[in-house]
Amino acid sequence: MSQPKHYIGRFAPSPSGPLHIGSLVAAMASYLDARIHAGRWLLRIEDLDFDRNVAGADRDILRSLQRCGMQWDGEAVWQSRRQPLYEAALRRLGAAVYPCCCSRKEIADSRLRMGEAAKQIYPGTCRAGLPPGKAARAWRLRVPLQPHQLIRFNDRLCGPQLQDLTAEVGDFVLKRADGYWAYQLAVVVDDAEQGVTDVVRGADLLDSTARQIYLQGLLGLPTPAYLHVPLVVNADGEKLSKQTGALAFDRGDNDLLQEALLPAARLLGLRLGATPAGIAHFWELASAAWREKLYT
Ligand code: GLU
Repeated sequence: MSQPKHYIGRFAPSPSGPLHIGSLVAAMASYLDARIHAGRWLLRIEDLDFDRNVAGADRDILRSLQRCGMQWDGEAVWQSRRQPLYEAALRRLGAAVYPCCCSRKEIADSRLRMGEAAKQIYPGTCRAGLPPGKAARAWRLRVPLQPHQLIRFNDRLCGPQLQDLTAEVGDFVLKRADGYWAYQLAVVVDDAEQGVTDVVRGADLLDSTARQIYLQGLLGLPTPAYLHVPLVVNADGEKLSKQTGALAFDRGDNDLLQEALLPAARLLGLRLGATPAGIAHFWELASAAWREKLYT
């Protein structure tokens, strides 16, 4: 008989505000998926965008998860304390990475001269070297021009995906002009370093996945399985921001069930089949419903 898959999942919130219904849905999906696979569920605070961090939001998120009965395995990690790992990865990428001196305005200006299709991507000004007298601001990853770099993967929920990195993304930033590490690099390094086998997160990151798979290939790192859950949007179809969707987690168990866990389960499309008698019972019902949703 084959061995059951060794499963490591994770939830990786950015501490830019308290847990909201959208992030609760992502947390719930990754927690349930780890649970039905008898796997580990890790917690990583993605606090590299120092301009967006809100003081105390990290601890607040951890407390809210615990209140909901979502206990992570091992110690939570903070990306801000792991920066030497990102530095080492950038060095390992060698000539695939190049310094870029372009400001946003310069990039916008040179895009004016390009065709519609190319407007989203970096025009490649610094690809062949910095212009004389210019200093590096950011570091970019070289995406092959010819042939185009295609990335295919199979999302466990959304199905087969294909992205043309050359045409749709272009040379992307790994270290930003403000000196901050870019999400794309940090997430790849951390998922591999933490042994993550399954990434379950919101569909806003579906579009980032090809970049991450490409980086994994260059760094010789394994590619985890991916599952993206639909985004929670408001009546106008806008992604719920952390400001609009804040939930109160310091309430009694029944309020927590009614106002947080059950709405999140509903948004995930889970059919619980019974009224949970408490939080532990909720997780039993929700796990069965998640298994049914994915595997029947
Ligand atoms: N930190 C990201 C966020 O809060 C999630 C990153 C990920 O799950 O890969 O949106």
